[in-house]
Amino acid sequence: MSEGHILVLDEGTTSTRAMLYAPDGRRLDMAQAELSQYYPQSGWVEHEAAEIWERTLACARRMVEQAGGADRIAAIGITNQRETVVAWDRHTGEPLARAIVWQDRRTAGHCAALRDAGEEAAVQRRTGLVLDPYFSATKMRWLLDHAPAVKEAGDALALGTMESWLVWKLTGGLHISDASNASRTQLMALDGEGWDQGLCDLFGVPLRALPEIADNAGAFGATLPAWFGRPIPIRGLAGDQQAATIGQGCLKPGEAKATLGTGAFVLTNRGQAVPASTHRLLGTLLYRLSGQRTYALEGSIFVAGSLIQWLRDQLGLITTAEETEALARSVADSGGVMMLPALAGLGAPHWRPDATGVIAGLTQGTTRAHIVRAALESLSHQIHDLAGAFAADGVGWHMLRVDGGMSANDWIAQDMANMLGLPVDRPADVETTARGAAMLAAVGHGLFPSLEAAFAAMGSQLTRFSPAMPVEIRAARLSGWNRLLNQ
Ligand code: ADP
Repeated sequence: MSEGHILVLDEGTTSTRAMLYAPDGRRLDMAQAELSQYYPQSGWVEHEAAEIWERTLACARRMVEQAGGADRIAAIGITNQRETVVAWDRHTGEPLARAIVWQDRRTAGHCAALRDAGEEAAVQRRTGLVLDPYFSATKMRWLLDHAPAVKEAGDALALGTMESWLVWKLTGGLHISDASNASRTQLMALDGEGWDQGLCDLFGVPLRALPEIADNAGAFGATLPAWFGRPIPIRGLAGDQQAATIGQGCLKPGEAKATLGTGAFVLTNRGQAVPASTHRLLGTLLYRLSGQRTYALEGSIFVAGSLIQWLRDQLGLITTAEETEALARSVADSGGVMMLPALAGLGAPHWRPDATGVIAGLTQGTTRAHIVRAALESLSHQIHDLAGAFAADGVGWHMLRVDGGMSANDWIAQDMANMLGLPVDRPADVETTARGAAMLAAVGHGLFPSLEAAFAAMGSQLTRFSPAMPVEIRAARLSGWNRLLNQ
């Protein structure tokens, strides 16, 4: 068994990938396919579930072939874009409508009505989540109200998030969801075992259409022999951000990771304590193993790498994202320039959807290097504020692990360490989402007794950035940032 590889299916928003891992955590190979995006109306985002299945299967087959056949694969781990909803027919296994993607805002009215009816506090207490179209429940209700085939499906209706859909297709009819994905639907109470009848009634989602909630690692059945020549057991499942947290080895309370991509997703391990935020962070299930639940608090910054894209595409100040590192280093400081990067409002912990961006402190001496540096610094300022919110909610950070496209920038990683006053660690292989799914599959397959043991064997080498900034410079930056926020 220790000879066996692990096949990870990483089903994302813009592409789906299959990756082959050795049991020691080495990533051996990868196949990737783009996914079609449909925008039928402003604020609507849809996917074709059949396409996602076909492309995921095609990528998986390439990796199985690469491994030398299905008997070289010990187990499959799946990780996926969270909250996206698929409706399909239990008898035919065919989708009944396009999938509604997590970014889709069409159910804003339904959420507002629930808020006006005074439901938010109770929903947040039970699920850890605010009332927002982001989560799956109102999307499911929308399909039941508006998609003719879903309306008419009756007992044949199956609902699920992406991992449910893929497991159903892979196994030929097993209907499960893992607890981390289920916790993003808003239909599972954080401290409950299964679906919450009260929440299903509130959102109008029939419980009989939902999958059974499973652990994040274990024996979930096997693939149909038709797909890969012989059955391969499915052993690990997790939503992408939870998988990344696991793949970063944030397995103890207070350990935190930030994925610095277009936006920044920050999760902090909360241990066994059911998280309750008073700072509008989200409480979420990190993983469930042998029925035992570990939780996380989550906060998102909307504008991270997209600010760099804006500097490049809208302002023309840079030609590549990588250039920002040398530019930031080319000046001693930002020359007094400060940036509030509220290009899409401000996310956690400020939650000011109507805020707009500011560039302050411009003088005759300001150069593009100063502006670029101020832009990079603004990410550290936002992460600093998020750290404060997590601490106020009872999970102060001991360190921060970073991944995502922007984490390749050494200057940013060092600046974050400086502003946080904490070590910032970056793994050599920043594919932490897939690594987390591989670790879960390895544990589910009995290769390791725990996630800690899996991380010890499969974790990637870390580069550490230690704080090294005079306290007065840090204080001056923070006071400038706070002036900008409060003006
Ligand atoms: P996503 O998964 O959200 O598509 P990625 O993790 O691929 O994003 O990261 C891409 C983002 O990171 C882009 O917005 C890009 O501007 C930014 N980025 C990539 N490399 C760098 C770099 N060296 N310095 C700063 N930003 C970068």
